[in-house]
Amino acid sequence: MTGWINISGGGSVRLTAVRVGILMPAVPAAVLGFTLACSIAHAAGPPLPNSRPVVIDLAPVTDQDQPSDEEQLPEEDQVGTEQPEKPVLEKQAEQKLPEPRPVLPAPVAPEPPAPVRQAKPAFDLAKAKQCERELRKLNAKFTVTGPITGDGQCGWPRAVKLTSLARNVKIKGDIRVRCELALALARWSKEVMVPSAKLHLGKAPKAVRIDTSYQCRRRNNAKTGKLSEHAFANGVDVMGFVFPDDQIFNVAVRSGSANAERAFQAAVRGGSCAYFTTVLGPMTNASHADHFHFDLAVRRGGYRLCQ
Ligand SMILES: [Zn+2]
Repeated sequence: MTGWINISGGGSVRLTAVRVGILMPAVPAAVLGFTLACSIAHAAGPPLPNSRPVVIDLAPVTDQDQPSDEEQLPEEDQVGTEQPEKPVLEKQAEQKLPEPRPVLPAPVAPEPPAPVRQAKPAFDLAKAKQCERELRKLNAKFTVTGPITGDGQCGWPRAVKLTSLARNVKIKGDIRVRCELALALARWSKEVMVPSAKLHLGKAPKAVRIDTSYQCRRRNNAKTGKLSEHAFANGVDVMGFVFPDDQIFNVAVRSGSANAERAFQAAVRGGSCAYFTTVLGPMTNASHADHFHFDLAVRRGGYRLCQ
């Protein structure tokens, strides 16, 4: 298609055909004007004859400009089907197809993490007391308990029993942990959990539901193997949250399309990785399908596990 545009104004128009194609109707007038203006060389001198019309080639889009149907089909639709003899015109169209895109190299699998050695965290009385001061500043409610004793390496010299993480966020359940873990939980509550709930659900939880905190056992309740961080009062399982209307939010496998609950849980999980050195949950495996496991495991090289 060819169109004619008259330009008045006395400038000489040095014009080459402007190819617009099918996008022409969508081109804003200002853009078109700018484009054309760039093609205008103003002559400073004697008046020039009437400007010539601008020729705009609105060439129709041919089949070659459009992606072929085959490019838009999923691969499985193109494999293993017997093709009948194609008409001559279709064969010609295939010959005109552009070169296939280069095949990108397969992504290289990430290197497995270096083996890490996990040890029981070291107890430091001065640090424990400092931690308790920090915890009070956050308005957490707790009592300092005596040592937790257990078989073998289980236990911890000085623990805290938490009843609330902040003025408005209580603990539902029984939690006795080393102060550093309680402090991490209080900070996570204030800086991640409450803001995420307000953002995604429009309300702040009044309580966090806790299941296991201290427990003298091996990882995954196995009969052999390393002790769980729970055995050092250094791990806690968060089951969910309670809102002011007594509605309970359970940590759970949440798949499917995005919704506010799923976004809230994802935000809580993602943010927790900044406060704990181990984060496990419904995305990890079936044994964590209904809770988040947080701990402050000490690993060589500061390695963190966030899943
Ligand atoms: Zn756990």
